[in-house]
Amino acid sequence: MIKKGTGTVTYPLTNERQSKPLAIINGRVIDPAQKIDGTMNIIIDNGIVKHIGSGIPPEYNNAETIDAVDKWVVPGLVDMHVHLREPGREDKETIATGSCAAAAGGFTAVACMPNTTPVLDEESKIRYVIQRAAEGCPCRIYPIGAITKELMGEELAPMGEMVTAGAVAMSDDGKTVAKSNIMRNAFNYSKSFGIPVICHCEDAALCAKGHMNEGHVSTRLGVRGIPVIAEDIIVARDILLAEYTGARAHIAHVSTAGSVRLIREAKTRGVNVTAETCPHYFTLTDEDIGMYDTNKKMNPPLRTAIDREAVIAGLADGTIDVIASDHAPHVSEEKDVEFDNAAFGVIGLETMLGVVMTILVNEKLLTPTQMVERMSVAPNRILGLPGGALKVGAPGDVTVIDPAIKWTVDPTMFFSKSRNTPFSGMGLKGAAAVTILGGMITYRRG
Ligand SMILES: [Zn+2]
Repeated sequence: MIKKGTGTVTYPLTNERQSKPLAIINGRVIDPAQKIDGTMNIIIDNGIVKHIGSGIPPEYNNAETIDAVDKWVVPGLVDMHVHLREPGREDKETIATGSCAAAAGGFTAVACMPNTTPVLDEESKIRYVIQRAAEGCPCRIYPIGAITKELMGEELAPMGEMVTAGAVAMSDDGKTVAKSNIMRNAFNYSKSFGIPVICHCEDAALCAKGHMNEGHVSTRLGVRGIPVIAEDIIVARDILLAEYTGARAHIAHVSTAGSVRLIREAKTRGVNVTAETCPHYFTLTDEDIGMYDTNKKMNPPLRTAIDREAVIAGLADGTIDVIASDHAPHVSEEKDVEFDNAAFGVIGLETMLGVVMTILVNEKLLTPTQMVERMSVAPNRILGLPGGALKVGAPGDVTVIDPAIKWTVDPTMFFSKSRNTPFSGMGLKGAAAVTILGGMITYRRG
């Protein structure tokens, strides 16, 4: 058990508790996959959902009970874009601390990006992550393999071996695969394995060593800018390559109005493209960088209010399928420096649900059902994972959400090893009350 400011995470998990059935009663069950939104009871036994509906079958009268009255009971949340920093930068985060942060954020599964040291670009490295995850992490961990060896953009990594070892997608996240022929080959191969290629869309030449969005704020601050076209042009390319090859493209961390428009058009045309955005892109703008706040520096950068509105509209109409955190931990030595020298990236596992509820759901920009679609149903579907619905026979992964709880983001309370949140001090309403993985309670708030 690890206790922090917000609650208690059970780590490491042992399987013995799985033998005890768990009843989650009187909650508002929101399960878009089954078109359910109503008060129900859920029983989990042996890690599996055994009952959903009214009443409790008599054989479960002695089950451990969670009273979820006034709470939302939803399929376990999935964050399909996190950086766990292990192997290589265990000073920033480890698979253990990252998965504790995930549990505390209400997540039952995360997919981790391959830009570690060494890069996850071969079978043995994928196996390493899966092995570490099996040591009792309070959250399922799904590794993503690199598209190219050492993320160099030159030679494809052995995709088939990595998929066999357990990789659920391919990505050179952090970098764009600059050569279109390499990306074309990656798309072509990905089809045989039924996995998506996750595209980090930034034209390196157009980024021109910029540090924030190119616009009047960057001019005022005297910081070299990254234009929106740097993102849009690669989104357009990768959509065209997906269309040409018939493969599946998933556009990571959409930040611009142009990307939203391109993805919307592509979906209308029937291109096999999905997309994600992150809480900072629908909450903050480049104005929020204020006096060079390095905790608001990430890749792609915070954009303008016009982009933020377009991202919200894209989430509302389903153009953007997924909300992911792009959880990118950094030690303070890499953030407590001049803006131009600060590392790109912010953490998000422990704030995402609260920010989504506060900015989108409480403001009626997204319904609770849409929130569950973006944070559980869609990431499960895109990565081919077994969760995303609370039907009988499904994994007993459940997030119990308290929609009324008010709290203030305090980085010192995080389970994550790092503190680089852009939301420090923000008042939020809504959080995970209990996180349940395979019928075991991994996190309890308070
Ligand atoms: Zn990225």
